[in-house]
Amino acid sequence: MGVACLLTTTELLAQALPTNDTTLRRMWQAGMNQSQVLDLAQVLTDSIGPRLLGSTGLQSSQTWAVQTYAKWGIAARIEPYGAWLGWRRGATHVDLVAPHVQTLTALPVAFSSGTAGTAEGAVLTLPVTQDSAAFAAWLPHVRGAFVAIGSPRLSCRSDRDFATSGTAGSLERRQREQATADSIFDATRLAPTGLRGRLLDPWPLYAALSRAGALAILRSQADPQEGALHSERAVLFTGVATLAPVLNLSCEDYGLLVRLAERRQSPRVRASVDAQRTGEVATANTIAEIRGSARAGEYIVLSAHLDSWDGAAGAIDNAAGTAVVMEAMRILEDNYPHPRRTILAGHWTGEEFGVQGSHAWAEDHPDVVRGIHALFDLDNGTGRVTKVSAMGLMDAGERLARWFSRVPTELSEGVRFDLPGLPATSGRDVASFTCYGAPAFPFGGADWSYGWTQHTTIDTYDKIVPEELRHNAVLLAMLVYLADQDDSATSRDRRANLSSPRFPSPRAWPSCADAPARRKSPPP
Ligand SMILES: [Zn+2]
Repeated sequence: MGVACLLTTTELLAQALPTNDTTLRRMWQAGMNQSQVLDLAQVLTDSIGPRLLGSTGLQSSQTWAVQTYAKWGIAARIEPYGAWLGWRRGATHVDLVAPHVQTLTALPVAFSSGTAGTAEGAVLTLPVTQDSAAFAAWLPHVRGAFVAIGSPRLSCRSDRDFATSGTAGSLERRQREQATADSIFDATRLAPTGLRGRLLDPWPLYAALSRAGALAILRSQADPQEGALHSERAVLFTGVATLAPVLNLSCEDYGLLVRLAERRQSPRVRASVDAQRTGEVATANTIAEIRGSARAGEYIVLSAHLDSWDGAAGAIDNAAGTAVVMEAMRILEDNYPHPRRTILAGHWTGEEFGVQGSHAWAEDHPDVVRGIHALFDLDNGTGRVTKVSAMGLMDAGERLARWFSRVPTELSEGVRFDLPGLPATSGRDVASFTCYGAPAFPFGGADWSYGWTQHTTIDTYDKIVPEELRHNAVLLAMLVYLADQDDSATSRDRRANLSSPRFPSPRAWPSCADAPARRKSPPP
């Protein structure tokens, strides 16, 4: 009954669409009633899985995308651009075996090495030492042991618990206690090693512990709010090829090991971590193309990065955007197969390591970048589009308004425009095109706890909100069609004043040469 009611409602809505444009009506029908966007997202996340740069999962996703486009009759190709560190994650199993037996939640961080078979040993914490000489004298103790190197959380309860169930001031008190414990840990255990390094994570310490024979390095980057393990911050930029495995434990399990070790209750851990660096591998973008019939040298680009972090399947970051772009291409091919301009889908990789793929692609295709009529970038999680920025281009707002005014209000209401907006400087693929002054527009979306979900072990298929993805795919297909119908020239006039409350001092338009992304391999 529920299904029948839904269908009837959708059909009614389709009939009620306030447009006589048959292409828009067909697109609505194709994207709302015959949607494939969830099937695409499910295969990409559940079946193909994580898509870390340098992994076979990413390569599989590219092959799958090309094959899927081919099935729809859309030409697609894989375009190599550089090289990156290859890495393979196998199975991981970590148990506490004494003083009692308990399976632990642990994830090797990306690019970690594995254990040689099964490793078993005691758990140590960093000792309180006076200085680096004292630490060096202690260091031989780590041979054959697991070493916990961070300050544990005093409680893995969420802040919400302290705020709602505690007495007045509970949360503030707990936060003060945690801050004090962290600074004491840092001052008495970490700083004296002299090995903290300049980065957030103590890479030189990792290296010293590894050389001294530690079985694995234990730490916890977990979110007590949601039980998620963060998978970012790879053991990558160390320049040390033979680090011990680095395991990221849940807040609870890390606290358990540290308490047992500190109270001399003799914890022992057994771990089997299958992970391996596989040398340098080629990196590539995947490009799909519907050739233009009248103005083939002008381009409308649908943009979404395909790579992800690998603690989970990268569902909202960015299988969601990828599926939306693919679904929009399918809707366009079926309902608007002979566009005037060339329609491209850019499935970039290396976004998570400084927008490498889109940066290299823009550099390799100056003719396309010059001919961009509009680029829409989907990297906003699972949420329906609620914000569009004109990225500092003076008359882009008028064109965006014209296109949005013709899509059904179901899709356009609630969208805020940032006009003329400010050009992106880095961190999103759109920056790779904005730096050339191309009309490239990033979409922002309804939040859906994006910050707690992206880059973690809970970024899984279930976090995708079906109606939001259908909404975005139909909107995107319609915008591409409407942009293609628009004859107005693509003026690239930039705003003169780029200062804002956030960036008060005068600054220049972002330079493509300054972009952090270069096609390169990390140190071995
Ligand atoms: Zn992303």
